[in-house]
Amino acid sequence: MVMAYKILIVEDNPDQVELMRITFSKKSNKFSTTFSYVGKECIKQCKENYYDAVILDYKLPDYSGLDVLIKLRKLNIRYPVIIITAQGDEKVAVEAMKNGAADYVIKEGNYLSSLPKVIEAVIVRERLQQQLRAKEEFLGSIVEKADDFIFSLDSEFNIQFVNPQISKLGYKEKEVLQKPFFILLSDRHDHASVSQILRQPSEGNYEFEFKDKKGKILNFVLSFSILQEKDSNQKIIGIAKDLTEILYLHRLIKESKKKLQAMFDGITDNILVFDLEKTVVMANEKVASLLNTTPEKVLGMECDKLVSLSLPVDEEVINRTFISKSSEFSEISRNEKVFHVWTYPMFDLEGQLENIIEYSHDVTDQKNIERSLIQSEKLATIGLLASGVAHELRNPLNIIETARYCISDVLENGNDDINSKLEIIKRNVKRASNIINNLLEFSRHSPKDQERIDINKTIDKTLSLIEKDLHSQNIEVIKHYGSVQNVYLGLDSLKQVFLNIIINAIHAMPDGGVLQINTDLVDNWVKIKIGDTGYGIPKDHIKNIFTPFFTTKALGEGTGLGMYVSHSIIKREGGEISVTSTEGKGTVFTVKLPTNGKSC
Ligand code: ADP
Ligand code: MG
Repeated sequence: MVMAYKILIVEDNPDQVELMRITFSKKSNKFSTTFSYVGKECIKQCKENYYDAVILDYKLPDYSGLDVLIKLRKLNIRYPVIIITAQGDEKVAVEAMKNGAADYVIKEGNYLSSLPKVIEAVIVRERLQQQLRAKEEFLGSIVEKADDFIFSLDSEFNIQFVNPQISKLGYKEKEVLQKPFFILLSDRHDHASVSQILRQPSEGNYEFEFKDKKGKILNFVLSFSILQEKDSNQKIIGIAKDLTEILYLHRLIKESKKKLQAMFDGITDNILVFDLEKTVVMANEKVASLLNTTPEKVLGMECDKLVSLSLPVDEEVINRTFISKSSEFSEISRNEKVFHVWTYPMFDLEGQLENIIEYSHDVTDQKNIERSLIQSEKLATIGLLASGVAHELRNPLNIIETARYCISDVLENGNDDINSKLEIIKRNVKRASNIINNLLEFSRHSPKDQERIDINKTIDKTLSLIEKDLHSQNIEVIKHYGSVQNVYLGLDSLKQVFLNIIINAIHAMPDGGVLQINTDLVDNWVKIKIGDTGYGIPKDHIKNIFTPFFTTKALGEGTGLGMYVSHSIIKREGGEISVTSTEGKGTVFTVKLPTNGKSC
């Protein structure tokens, strides 16, 4: 149902009142009327009630219609007022309009019949104006309270309006009004190109450097729009968002990201960070180097792709962390290398799983050392067994020797044949007991860490251990022993070094050759040179000779530990070991030992 307009009619003439009553009673569905007869009463009613319009007769007994209008406005009562004047009072009507009357009607002819229409038009207009005012107020408060700096420029680019955010640039409103827009810009912007933008701004945003009152540079992002006014003037509206803080935060984030990456890259183990789709979001240099690339190139790669490229990535352990949301561990093999892999969950600020870190460490060397330790343990056990066996063989050999002696004694003048056989027994018993003595000597663990050692004798003892191999392989041993001082070192270790070098030399001369051993005293160093005439060492292998597990021998024949262990022992004893070799000609190992011993 449409509400009827509420109108207050102020008229003192009873006849007029009667006529009005008749007029409006016909339109009672549109108007609900209240009558008042004097100005005072009108004001009272307006204070107490709401009216859509007030119809004021100009001539009232107490006040004039104009007075009533002015009083109402003073009381801030803004109902639209229509003044009704007598013919010839038009001037008064104009005066009333100046004081805010909405319209006037002259009492002439059949004016009453058109009055309802006039009233309705005034009410509708007033309502529209009210809506407009409300809208303007609403927009005005948005502009006032906005976080952004909003301004308008005239077609000459002078500032016409600024909202309070101008204070961000250190200015007061009045300091910039009517001034050129350019006073707000840094020197980076040239007037010509800015003018071009202002004349025809595009829909997008522009980055501007503003300069505040003190000259400090601030970064803003601006959007412009053109407002065509009725008087064909153009207004440029600008909205500027302050980016200074955002850019600063951006820089901080970038810097801390750089620091994090530097830390990441400093870690010598492999680190990958995956998102929930198992795609790499971070990688360090170490892991990238496995693919001969940079960390950036690894970003975006998927987990299964990395596995197919043989990277130390274990999808299974990543999945486990997805489920358990805690750290997991696994051991994997990739390209004959062994890796320990740990995964850790990373949570976002809300505590939701966001990323998974996968950290892998190459444990191949560790594993090999473990294996070789087991091997040396085995060797030590075999050594122990051998010495036990040797010990046990001594008695039967003694018995054989005693028996041989008895037989030769009984057959003092026996025939030559028996004598020569007895001689063979004697020689071989001697040889057997020599081997046993050497074996016992070699496997004897020296109770002392360091002792006085005669180098020449030690080499001889080592040689006698492998005498048979030298002989069977047709290797001639040439020795040039100098008169060298005793050295004060670990005996067991030294024997091992000589044995390792000589065995390698034997291996290098499968078709025979010469093993040349020289000892010498040079500047308080005992220098031992062990040379062979074997196949030599290729140039690019030389640097690997002392590296653990480097071997060119077939599986099961070489461990690649001999030279590594020898090098470690000699270094530990304060000496030096080096190698020279010519492919096809032979190899010379030189060992230098301090005559005063490392600890002296
Ligand atoms: P292994 O003897 O178990 O292979 P080593 O550490 O003793 O391990 O030696 C490493 C490698 O160095 C050998 O496999 C061989 O290739 C090379 N090498 C060592 N000594 C000699 C030598 N005298 N002549 C030629 N090659 C040698
Ligand atoms: Mg060897």
